[in-house]
This record gives sequence, C-alpha cells and structure tokens, in this order.
Amino acid sequence: MRPEDERLAREEARAERRRARLEKHVLPCPHCGKSVLDHMARCPYCGGELVPAGYRPMDPQKKKKIRTVCYIVGTVIAVAVIALVLFLR
Ligand SMILES: [Zn+2]
Repeated sequence: MRPEDERLAREEARAERRRARLEKHVLPCPHCGKSVLDHMARCPYCGGELVPAGYRPMDPQKKKKIRTVCYIVGTVIAVAVIALVLFLR
C-alpha cells in the first residue's frame, strides 16, 4: 500500500467514525419527519417543539425538597451574617 493510499484510508475511516457519531444524534422530527439533532428544542424545518435528549423535567417533590433546603441554608447564612455584624460592632 502506498503511503498516500494509507493516508487516504485513514482519513476515510476517521470520516466514517465522525458520521457514525453524528448519526447517533440524528432523529426524525415527530411533526414533519425531517432529520433533526437530538439536542434541539425546536425543529428548524417546521418549528415544532422537540424534547431535547437528556432533558427530564424535575420531579416536583424533589424540587420542593431542594427549595426547602435552599431556604433553610439561606436563612441560616443570613442570621449568621447579621449576628456576626452585630457581634463585631
Ligand atoms: Zn419538524
């Protein structure tokens, strides 16, 4: 095999891998059926709404829990800062 051919074959293989990787992220639009990428939130062809891959709406129970924890931590920090300011005066 000539070095030139070898290089060409390598490039071909690389292009093939890139194509395969991209194909994993291509799926048909549920509205118009055209190929769209799975991270898109809106179809570029028909404007239909898409659900991006990996996106899952958060469980409301979990959301509430996180909000409560944030509220408590925020309150504790605020009280600590106020106490510190009063203490240092
Ligand atoms: Zn579409």
